[in-house]
Amino acid sequence: MNLPRKPTDMTLPETETQIIQHIRAQQSAMEIRLADMVAIPTGHDFSQGLNSMRVSLAARLRSMGAQVVEMAAAQRPTWITPNDRGEIGSPTLVARKLQGRGGPTLLIAGHMDTVHDPAGDFQTLSPLNHPRATGPGAADMKGGLEVALSALEALEKFAPTVRWIFIINADEEAGSFRSAEHLASVAKECDAGFVLEPALPNGGLVVERLGSGQFMIDVLGRAAHSGRDFANGISAVNTLAQCVLQAAGMTDLKRQRIVNIGPLQGGAATNIVADHARAWGNIRFANSQDGQQLSGEIQAMASGDAAHLPQITIQMAVNRPAKPCTQEVSQLALMAQSVAKDLGFDLATGSTGGVSDANLIQAAGVPCLDGLGVRGGNLHRGDEFIELDSLSERATLLALLLLRVSADDTKKIARG
Ligand SMILES: [Zn+2]
Repeated sequence: MNLPRKPTDMTLPETETQIIQHIRAQQSAMEIRLADMVAIPTGHDFSQGLNSMRVSLAARLRSMGAQVVEMAAAQRPTWITPNDRGEIGSPTLVARKLQGRGGPTLLIAGHMDTVHDPAGDFQTLSPLNHPRATGPGAADMKGGLEVALSALEALEKFAPTVRWIFIINADEEAGSFRSAEHLASVAKECDAGFVLEPALPNGGLVVERLGSGQFMIDVLGRAAHSGRDFANGISAVNTLAQCVLQAAGMTDLKRQRIVNIGPLQGGAATNIVADHARAWGNIRFANSQDGQQLSGEIQAMASGDAAHLPQITIQMAVNRPAKPCTQEVSQLALMAQSVAKDLGFDLATGSTGGVSDANLIQAAGVPCLDGLGVRGGNLHRGDEFIELDSLSERATLLALLLLRVSADDTKKIARG
């Protein structure tokens, strides 16, 4: 016989047992609600989809008695993407349920945007081999939103004294430039953070993330006919190519320093010396010192001025500081592992080079546990999938974790 390890419900406090049973009974309802969310396209800044998603999330949060507000999108630097169309951007949703007497305030963070094309073929949640299903944003992170909402609904029903704030932005996949200041200001009201990005491939939580920054290399040269006047031209493309190779050479995987380049733009036609060329890129780094050094090295490539072509200009935004696994983060991870043990499964922890809003929340001074969302895979691809059974599994894990951290005497976990 191959029976799963039996959860030790019997030894748990009654409230926890009630929450476990309640969420288990929600599994099919969670799948239906997830399918509804996945069917709303929220990729590529698609405001119509983001608006309808925000309205539906707000209604569900209000039905828990939360006070819900929208925070207008901040301005994003126009150089960040090659084809910034100057959109205003969708607001961030913030729901507060600050009840009970004292106790830590817990921050739950998620994003409603995905990377998927709202006009593409990948639009709905479709079953694969059970319990797997595929859909745009099913794992990253509409599954995570469903996990958090179901966990909070269970807490509202059985443990309504847990104090929480749920922040859901609409531009996490684009770097959170429009919501970063909202994440930082809301984090200042909170003591511990819980982020609903998908679990690591082994189901583990994310305790540590590299930092990330965006840059653009802009080169001006002088146009000339390639046949009649070549010697008078100054090729922006050639200079950009040298810069690209120089920047790429700054990668040092042993030190977790990464420079990735792309996309590129340059030149108007093959018979014209290019007078303008640009490249965008991304850096990753393990700590703030490395981040400063790497961004400094890239910025040092800037040279020339309008009178001395080629002119190289560098734009740089280190928008996500590294998120180390601090002692407070380890403590939160231990609490999550102890919940998982009580639920009958093992929970690993790990680090990743991927970044998330956990970087921003922790940079604002709040210890943050990430990867609490669903198990799934092929993220950001046209075959992204979710393990559906992880919906109720992770919602139970999150609900009990929030409950236990909330009950944790005197903000031991918290920054205090
Ligand atoms: Zn995500």
